[in-house]
Amino acid sequence: MLSVNDTQTIIFNLVQPLASQRDQEVVDLFAATGRILAAPVVSQRDFPHWDNSAMDGYAVRYEDVQHCNVESPTILEIVTEIPAGYQPQCAVQSGQAARIFTGAVMPQGADTVVMQENTHTEGNRVFILTAPKPQAFVRHKGSFSQTGAQLLPAGIVLNAPEIAILAAASCACVSVYRRPRVAIFSTGDELVTPEQPLQPGQIVDSNQYALAALVRQSGGEPLILGIVKDDPIILAATISQALSNADMVISSGGVSVGDYDYIDKILESLGATIHGRAVAMRPGKPLTVASFVNHGDNLSPQPQKLYLGLPGNPVAVLVTFWRFVQPAIKKLAGMSDGWEVKFLQVRSHDELRSDGNRETYICGKLQIIAGVYHFYKAGGTHSSGNLINLAETNALAILPVGTTLISANTEVEVLLISNNEG
Ligand code: AMP
Ligand code: MG
Repeated sequence: MLSVNDTQTIIFNLVQPLASQRDQEVVDLFAATGRILAAPVVSQRDFPHWDNSAMDGYAVRYEDVQHCNVESPTILEIVTEIPAGYQPQCAVQSGQAARIFTGAVMPQGADTVVMQENTHTEGNRVFILTAPKPQAFVRHKGSFSQTGAQLLPAGIVLNAPEIAILAAASCACVSVYRRPRVAIFSTGDELVTPEQPLQPGQIVDSNQYALAALVRQSGGEPLILGIVKDDPIILAATISQALSNADMVISSGGVSVGDYDYIDKILESLGATIHGRAVAMRPGKPLTVASFVNHGDNLSPQPQKLYLGLPGNPVAVLVTFWRFVQPAIKKLAGMSDGWEVKFLQVRSHDELRSDGNRETYICGKLQIIAGVYHFYKAGGTHSSGNLINLAETNALAILPVGTTLISANTEVEVLLISNNEG
């Protein structure tokens, strides 16, 4: 049985990011949220594009106003008005000022902006009541970023700030990694779809829906292959089909030690390397980590195609996905940083227990109370088959091997669940 750490090392090493040159597509900026940038973006222009005002006020020559004050204001002639979006019509000479608004281009001759709150006007004359600092409220051309500078590196997730930067740089479309295709299927003779009537002994295949949502939330595109009977021939055909159409394959069920748990044997018969069959964690002990040599695609950066046989229990599916599969899909999807699992030390509101034999994951919710994160464990029995109390789970408390008790109101490490749907 592998430790949780060894399992994650094996899985994360088997996965390489898609090819940034080949596995990319161009999307409109409005469709770019959550996508991963495939190539760096270099600026074609300076930011700001020209010297401009950061205030509504008056553009002046500093030397004209440096000694003024309320008792002895400098009086300047207003020679022009420059709204945002227009070229200044004339230069500012000594003794003159230009009325200027936020974002408007600085006129020739002026080097400083006096905010209008420090002025008083009479007709076409402006009284400067307070001496500004030299170059006050001027945003200089190129002071934020210059032509040729890298605005965004490849491998970052596009969210509001990055998309705004792309728009500001006049990139209406952007090259992003295609979403990795992740085949999913469920195995078990007892499974039916939510539309089918339940016969005695049957249950609804909830894992297919959980996995489809989880794959999407990880930035992948689920290829939904449905329910497969506990039949070695149909299972082998499904796995072969999944391998030829997807970048990664995930199944649930059939990896335990029961008589109908065929997955591992079929994987071996299809030529897989089995890296692990069980993990010392609860829930999630039966977990098959396998890989297939990526024949027929010498250009792919994936020398191996990953197959993860998750347990059938619905809670184990969620926990093992959050712990191992989500980061693997994010890495495959091209994220250069931040794809790893995120942990946080918080305060446990509830007492947490484990038998201490395996690393234990307990579903619950984080809430902020007086500025401190508190973990509340989900209600009901914590059986790996009990899905019913898990709505709004956003963290998993972790009890390491050897820890049997975390008392209420003491520190606990939690795994943060991110739902960054792209
Ligand atoms: P297995 O790993 O196939 O032995 O399944 C373990 C448990 O999980 C059994 O109680 C199954 O009925 C249940 N289970 C298996 N697959 C699913 C599924 N797709 N959706 C919901 N429950 C499942
Ligand atoms: Mg089964």
